[in-house]
Amino acid sequence: MLNKLAIEGGVPVREKMLAYGRQSISKADIETVMEVLNSDWLTTGPKVSEFEAQFAESVDAKYAIAVNSGTAALHTALFAAGVAPGSEVITTPFTFVATANVVRYLGGTVKFVDIRADTYNIDHNKIEESINKKTKAIIAVDFAGHPADFNEIKAIADKHNLIVVEDAAHSLGATYKNRKVGSLADMTTFSFHPVKHITTGEGGMIATDDAKFAAKMRAFRNHGITLDHKQREEAGSFMYDMTDLGFNYRLTDIQSALGISQLKKLNLWVQRRREIAAMYTAAFIDYPEIITPVTLPECESSWHLYVVQLVLECLTVNRGQIFHALRAENIGVNVHYIPVPWHSYYQNLGYTKGQWPIAEKLYERIISLPMWPGMSDKDIQETIIAVKKVISAYRK
Ligand SMILES: *Cc1c(COP(=O)(O)O)cnc(C)c1O
Repeated sequence: MLNKLAIEGGVPVREKMLAYGRQSISKADIETVMEVLNSDWLTTGPKVSEFEAQFAESVDAKYAIAVNSGTAALHTALFAAGVAPGSEVITTPFTFVATANVVRYLGGTVKFVDIRADTYNIDHNKIEESINKKTKAIIAVDFAGHPADFNEIKAIADKHNLIVVEDAAHSLGATYKNRKVGSLADMTTFSFHPVKHITTGEGGMIATDDAKFAAKMRAFRNHGITLDHKQREEAGSFMYDMTDLGFNYRLTDIQSALGISQLKKLNLWVQRRREIAAMYTAAFIDYPEIITPVTLPECESSWHLYVVQLVLECLTVNRGQIFHALRAENIGVNVHYIPVPWHSYYQNLGYTKGQWPIAEKLYERIISLPMWPGMSDKDIQETIIAVKKVISAYRK
């Protein structure tokens, strides 16, 4: 009875739930945070600039601006891009809600453009038909860690005088035509949420080569004030000026110290994510019920997610049933993403379903398997066994 599904009363493949993503924290991480707690600066001190400098270098960007979430990073970048009431911003429906929400924070309108059927990134061939005089920016999301088509997107943006913001919450460590994510778009935003590549608890960063954008973003994360606390202390002056209506989006020194320590592991962790992806892909090669992720030859993904597409035509049940069956085996699968315009908030704004057929059809078929660098080989094998067990049970 080993093969009786756990959802039908059988023995689960694992005893304990395996998370779909989680952080890895070392002794060194903890020690470096403790040092900051014993220092003079808890926030906006030397660790923030140290983290920014190291991060900028690691992604081949001139400037990096630390903020307190990936969402704050997107908001800050769009503010610098000049998005304001009346602006339109183009993005993908196949992303986390934050990518679109930041456009709304600034009073802009979101234009969702459908995705490619292979990489699940925004379809550059469909962008131009959504551009008009109000269009200000394109936010390209590197879905699951696979970079979007930046040469094509940049060419469209240049032709229409638009700013390209890259939501790289999934793609720290990825490359496109041998160039690093962080050096591709006008501004690139990152998230340091615990499931992302490196963590600061909550946190984010924007990378750019443009000095004007960098200055605008530094002020925006600090209420729109041109000098921060540390700069005023160094200048020995109380004077400051508030030039824009900004926010308190500052990252602390405590978090920045953790970020510096985590960044040292990035290459190793991306390598491990690639290994896990390769093991999954090899394991499912003989399963026509599963479409594994595609990587274009010009890209190296950094594998934030491993999303499989179920071929429902070959199965007796829907995605929901497969999802619950895998959870019953104690495999913590997830779904990324419900199309953003399907959420009530966007439906109430007047977006109607059915306008993004590729993303909407895909949504009914996807499952994210566990993917994080601290997974053991046993965790990976158990995930593979559980997927094969569930798929075999529901095969037509
Ligand atoms: C995680 C994520 C964000 C938001 O990052 P937070 O740090 O959680 O605010 C934005 N966009 C995408 C695609 C994400 O995955």
